[in-house]
Amino acid sequence: MGRGVIGRCANPSCKAPDSRLLRYLNNTVCAFGTCQAYATEQVAARRSATASAAAGQPVGPMEQCFHLEQILGVRECEPTELSVPKRCAEELDEDDQAISYEVRGQFGMDETDAQRAGFDTRWVRLTDLIKTIEYEALDDALSKYELSVHHRMKRARVDAYNRQWLESSA
Ligand SMILES: [Zn+2]
Repeated sequence: MGRGVIGRCANPSCKAPDSRLLRYLNNTVCAFGTCQAYATEQVAARRSATASAAAGQPVGPMEQCFHLEQILGVRECEPTELSVPKRCAEELDEDDQAISYEVRGQFGMDETDAQRAGFDTRWVRLTDLIKTIEYEALDDALSKYELSVHHRMKRARVDAYNRQWLESSA
């Protein structure tokens, strides 16, 4: 924890937000008990958002993608949302389809928040991307990904196979 700066407390319900010594939440929140509790909540929220992103779960309803830098992957259903019988079924129904993309970009509550948060990589549903990313930009990024993926993945499996073959015959 740093020594703090003087400024306006970031807790919206701070009872005296101006000219406070800010020492919590990267020097944005003051030392009132309720403000410290607010800071703790924010840290926990960020941590669980990061944890679910790492676990490959989609972005929560709160945070959205406001800047799309690159598409890294696609999946056509979310196994975590399927019941066990569905997952074990021989075929999936069409209504189990839920297209998501692994997106490198900026995520946040709004555009400013997303710029502040910097870059991250998360799974985002197509239906959510449509809401925040302009159609032309989205179509462009997805087309670029789709056109390049066949060639790159083909080369990757040939390379992997050759490496495996070399190792097993060494
Ligand atoms: Zn405060």
